[in-house]
Amino acid sequence: MICLGIESTAHTFGVGIMDDDGNVLANVKDSYTTEKGGIIPTKAADHHAEKCGEVVQKALDAAKLTMKDVDLISYSMSPGIGHTLRIGAFAARVLALKHGKPLIGINHCIAHLSIGEALTGAKDPVLLYASGANTQIIAYEGGKYRIFGETLDIGVGNFLDSVAREMGYGFPGGPKIYELSLKKKRFIELPYSVKGMDVSFGGLLTNIKQKIDSGKFSNEDLAYSTQETVFAMLLEVSERAMAHCDKKELLLGGGVACNIRLQEMAKKMCEDRKAKCFILENQFNVDNGAMIAWQGILEYKAGKRMKINESIIDPYQRTDEVNVDWK
Ligand code: AMP
Ligand code: MG
Repeated sequence: MICLGIESTAHTFGVGIMDDDGNVLANVKDSYTTEKGGIIPTKAADHHAEKCGEVVQKALDAAKLTMKDVDLISYSMSPGIGHTLRIGAFAARVLALKHGKPLIGINHCIAHLSIGEALTGAKDPVLLYASGANTQIIAYEGGKYRIFGETLDIGVGNFLDSVAREMGYGFPGGPKIYELSLKKKRFIELPYSVKGMDVSFGGLLTNIKQKIDSGKFSNEDLAYSTQETVFAMLLEVSERAMAHCDKKELLLGGGVACNIRLQEMAKKMCEDRKAKCFILENQFNVDNGAMIAWQGILEYKAGKRMKINESIIDPYQRTDEVNVDWK
């Protein structure tokens, strides 16, 4: 079975094609970026509407397939920015209707975990899902994907983007913060905010803004200290979730998981507790169509079916609201 998956939860319009043996036949994307400032939802949606036809065709070309070879269309139904989700759902509906293919809408956060299992061999990991808008510690426990810890305000990626924006850089800011951090001279103490199993970045962002405005600290030192502080927070709650669930695997996912320093710190934590750390290729950490295709295959094979008039979007669906019948 071959599935074409469409991703459009935020800045990325992605189309992936996978078969049910777990082979990635194509994974193409086009992302909305800015020189200065963050994502403007209507502009990101315009970007997706403009690029969707081209990205679908590029994915089919890369896989050397035509729509005739595709057995299933899947799309990100939730969670995400309503404006952009709507374009992906619309494109999926058009393809399904035009070519007479079944259609399935899936949860994006769970897709990050499933693609990790498919491509790394992880069996039952705790996922540290660190992306732009989302920061959650997710694991499968008691018949559901449960959130063991999460951000109480903004996602860690958006937080890094905001720090970079304050320093005068555009979107995405995460890679810029990493580059700056390599030129650091010293560590600057910053507020560390872990609250039970949750983390928060709002106060920290205010504190860093004040430090930037004061002119007393270099961007390099601030970038380095920001990374050390927030990655320690994320790994503290990830480790506690692993201990609580008695799981021996950690999987990193989301765009921030591309960060080499976060990867180093995660590997060290896992080594210390004799656990395995699974890290994906960057193309599968960031938002991508392949993971949407794979999640579609898992759910379709488990019997899930969706009529066109049920193919909604649900920007606020929580990971633990999803009925899991494919495990
Ligand atoms: P996603 O929403 O999962 O596509 O991830 C996008 C987020 O990942 C943005 O906030 C980026 O700034 C962030 N990001 C991408 N690459 C890196 C990196 N190397 N280090 C830190 N953050 C990154
Ligand atoms: Mg994501």
